[in-house]
Formats: sequence, structure tokens, C-alpha cells
Amino acid sequence: MSFEPDEPQLAVARGAAGRGLCPECFGRLLGRWGHGLSNPERAARLERALGGGPRPVAGTCPVCGGLFARIDTWAERARRAADGYEWHRFTCGSRWEPERLAAEEALWTELGDAWGESARAAFNRELGKRLEALTGAQGGTAGADVVFLADLEVGRVELTVAPLYVRGRYRKLDRTIPQTRWPCRRCHGRGCVRCGGTGRTYPTSVEELVGAPFVAATRAEGTRFHGMGREDIDARMLGHGRPFVLELLRPRVRSVDLVALGGSLGPEAAGRVELEEVGPAEAPDVVRVKEAAPEKSYRVGVVGSVPLGKVKEALSLAVGRTIAQRTPARVAHRRSDRVRTRRIVAAHVVDEAEGRFTVELRTEAGTYVKEWVEGDAGRTEPSLAALVGTPLRVEFLDVLEVHDGEGA
Ligand SMILES: [Zn+2]
Ligand SMILES: [Zn+2]
Repeated sequence: MSFEPDEPQLAVARGAAGRGLCPECFGRLLGRWGHGLSNPERAARLERALGGGPRPVAGTCPVCGGLFARIDTWAERARRAADGYEWHRFTCGSRWEPERLAAEEALWTELGDAWGESARAAFNRELGKRLEALTGAQGGTAGADVVFLADLEVGRVELTVAPLYVRGRYRKLDRTIPQTRWPCRRCHGRGCVRCGGTGRTYPTSVEELVGAPFVAATRAEGTRFHGMGREDIDARMLGHGRPFVLELLRPRVRSVDLVALGGSLGPEAAGRVELEEVGPAEAPDVVRVKEAAPEKSYRVGVVGSVPLGKVKEALSLAVGRTIAQRTPARVAHRRSDRVRTRRIVAAHVVDEAEGRFTVELRTEAGTYVKEWVEGDAGRTEPSLAALVGTPLRVEFLDVLEVHDGEGA
């Protein structure tokens, strides 16, 4: 407890005496000088050192307007704002009128005070302490489940609930479902004639089938699904599956067994979507998944009358060679139109029948495989069709593996 103010500090206290500052604000004038005392305790020491004087009256403080006397009310408001949510860690902050903070700094200047601590920093800290005492939760900045923002002018506490993140890999065995929820283009999800009132283009998605048990258990208000790339709707995703992070928005329940939930996808998912390597994730995992650019392996069923020797010759020419792909016509409405260069890493024929053959290939991330086979009316150069000199059509496409270095 070292708090023995010398003359420069006493001069600040003398200048502030009689202005009606509350004990919190009076003591905080020397908040960054010495240590080991609360601000009201500092105020009491200073008053004693100055030989007493009229006690300042709380509620009329020119710095805080009595805010610090009502801090329990704010803690109670915060607790009520988060009622119905499970939370163990929190962060709190406050929104102040800039004029109020500027007036405090003006007072420091006037008093020649070099040791003042701002009202906002002190309020946030004290609110955090009261909340810890009131709820048993832990304050701090890392890993907060909820964030409270006390809006001092409006008189209410805004609540932000941190999402819960789940990671895993999914296999998609169904050629009719998209990876993410796909709102109807015409009504944007409100429901219209075109979508039969459902608001959707497709009745379900990997996002919804995977999300269902997690949403039910955490009572989240919604989801965001972040896949490490995506396959076409009519392509299966096989092998060890595709890495994803599922974001559960505003969950009311946080203590759930994610692994068990990942093993209990509902009957609607049976035979359509499977999961593996389910576990907890954090926000940076979303970035990791979105920024990864792994090679992928595919199996492609191709229709076209080409002698097997000719296909093999074309594949040997294609492997290791750079191909130029202009944005495919089918995705041009949502991707910028430009030419990308990609590489076929490996390719070989695995099956052959009259008028059709099956190729397995490994490509760089972002290769449009269907277009590489068919040519996309000259937008991909050279295509397999161009190399064999015969029109080709993709009959089916499966992703065999996403080579992200973890699953395979
Ligand atoms: Zn005050
Ligand atoms: Zn619609």
C-alpha cells in the first residue's frame, strides 16, 4: 500500500477540492500514481492529507454525473441483457459522449494533473468486477462468450453473443444438394410463387443437414458454413471428406458435446451426408479453411467415342501442362470474368466402355474440371476434348479427396 502523495500530487487534490467530485472521480485524478488502493480509498487519504473539508456529494459529480454511484445498476442491466444465454467469460465496454471524456481531460490540464485515469477505463474495469461478483463469470478479453456494451446515454446494455465454432470434414453422397443454404433468387428467402413459398432454391443443403443437431442442442439463431472450397451440386464429395467450419450464431447453450452431436445427424441426412473428425474450432479456423488452396482428386465419367489409346496419349500430354481457364460461362454471374492458369498434376484412365470412359485426375486448387474436359466453347485451353479432337461430355463428377495435408 504505497500511497504517500508529495506536493505535486497534493496540489492537484487541492485544486480539485470543493468541486463536487465523487470519491471515485476524486481518487482517480491520481489513478495512475502509486498503487494498491481503490479510487475511493485514495480520495479518503487525499482528503485527510488536505485536512478534511466538505464531503463531495454523489450524484452531482461534474465528471461522471453520478455514474460510479450507479454501477451496480449497470451490472444488473448487463446480467439481464444476457439472461437466457449460457456464458462463462465476458468482456465489457462502454459508449460515452465524447464531450464528457473531453471535459475530463480539460480538468486534468487545468489542474496540471499527469496521473489521471480516464473515466471510461475505470468504469469498464469496475463494471467487470461487479459482474464477476454478481455472476461468478470471468472478465477479460480472451475467449469471451459475451460482450457487453453499456450505452451510457441511452441507458441500456447491448449484448453481443460470440458464435460457437465446430470443425469437421463432410462427405456428400447425394448429387442433388448444394453445400450451403441457397435462398430463392427471386424473393431472397421471403417465399414466392417461384420457390413455392419455401424461400429456397433447393429443399436442403449440407449446411442444414450438418447444422441441424448443433442448432437444436445450442439453440443457435442461425448458422454460417465455411467449406474449404465447394463441389458442384451434382458432384459427390467422397474420400476423407471436405474440411469445414460451422459457425453457430448467438447460441443459448454452449456446454455441448460437439463430437457426439457430429455423430448424430438426423434421419434426413442418412445416406446423404456423413461427418468425420468433428471437434471444437475457433474463429481463426474459418480463415484457415477459407484461405487453403489444396490440390484435389476427382473421378470423372466422360461420354465420347474416343479410342483408349488416344485418351491415354491426350492425358500424358495434359499432365504437368499449364491450362488457361477463362471463368466458366455457368459461374460468370457470380465470379469476375478473367483467365486463370492451372495445372493438371496427374491423370489416368480407370475404366472404359463403349462410347464412354472414366478418368481419375489430381489438379491444382481452383481448376474447373468439367470445363477442362469439355472445353467450355473454347474458354478452357487446351481441353481434353481439344486434345482428343472429339466433343466430350461429362456424365458425372466426384471429388475423391481434398489434399489439405490433414485427412489425406
Ligand atoms: Zn464522479
Ligand atoms: Zn422465392
